Amino acid sequence: MPDTLTLPGFVNAHSHTFQRALRGRAGGGDFWAWRELMLAEAERQTPESVRASYAQTYGELRAAGYTAVGEFHYLGLDEARAAADAADAAGIGLVLLYAAYARGGLPRMRQESAAAYLRGLESLRADGLRVGLAPHSVRACPRDWLEELGRYAAAEGLPLHVHADEQPREIEECLAEHGCRPIELLERAGCLGSHVTVVHATHADGTELDRLAASGTTVCACPTTEADLADGFLPAARVEHRGIALCIGSDSNVRIDPFEELRELEGIARRQTGRRGVFSTERLLGFGSAEGARSLGLDAWPEIEVDLEHASLRGVARADVLDALVSSCGADVVSAS
Ligand SMILES: [Zn+2]
Repeated sequence: MPDTLTLPGFVNAHSHTFQRALRGRAGGGDFWAWRELMLAEAERQTPESVRASYAQTYGELRAAGYTAVGEFHYLGLDEARAAADAADAAGIGLVLLYAAYARGGLPRMRQESAAAYLRGLESLRADGLRVGLAPHSVRACPRDWLEELGRYAAAEGLPLHVHADEQPREIEECLAEHGCRPIELLERAGCLGSHVTVVHATHADGTELDRLAASGTTVCACPTTEADLADGFLPAARVEHRGIALCIGSDSNVRIDPFEELRELEGIARRQTGRRGVFSTERLLGFGSAEGARSLGLDAWPEIEVDLEHASLRGVARADVLDALVSSCGADVVSAS
């Protein structure tokens, strides 16, 4: 019998799985140039392409140790059902974070009203899918949509995920339209709280971080994607100082490796503070598993086995294995299941 260690499975709280197709062909420019390529890839998707390519990528997530995924989905209802089929085929737990999109993006992403959006969400729930609300961003959703979706999520006890503060331009546009920053707008619209996850928060200022902390809102960091897209990086030490809950997402799936996401978080904090061990290993592993599950409203998700005979762990004392996993290992230490 191989020597293994059982751990809680990792939970990927933020994935746009179709974006895996952009690997290697979306370099250069800035976030907004990348977004044009991303939208062209989104436009090409069909239920059949989603079923096939998501099953493949969900299989990669599963092999890397993610046993549940939050799919932040803006490709349409039929494609949402195809994503659920793909998750079943790959053996990964799925929470379909169905995106609300009022303006911008592509026509296929948009709904004509918040009520129409909620009808779509309810149809997915009626099909037995586990769902969450996902007003895409303050860019894509006006205040009255945010208010209606915030009310619905609170009343139904559903998770609500929303992108915020990923790029400076989004903050400038929000200030021009609303006279406040994105996370302040989310608070005014009833979209912060312990059931809410703000994705990125890269450029959140001190006041916004205070609001996240006071409301018990979770932040989902996606460090490999945020680096790849030149978003910037999470003010990780300031987030930790305030005790804000964190979870991780593979987001664009430029990389599929939960250990790498966690190591990046600690690496950012070390570069910012000149100190090591800003996050404890226990905290980091919790961000990668239990905090992600809580963010998605999951009570249970499968465990994984780590191969203690893997070359990356050879010679590491048993008492040091968890620290070595976070500091020195990649997803290939996860045993096939
Ligand atoms: Zn995203």
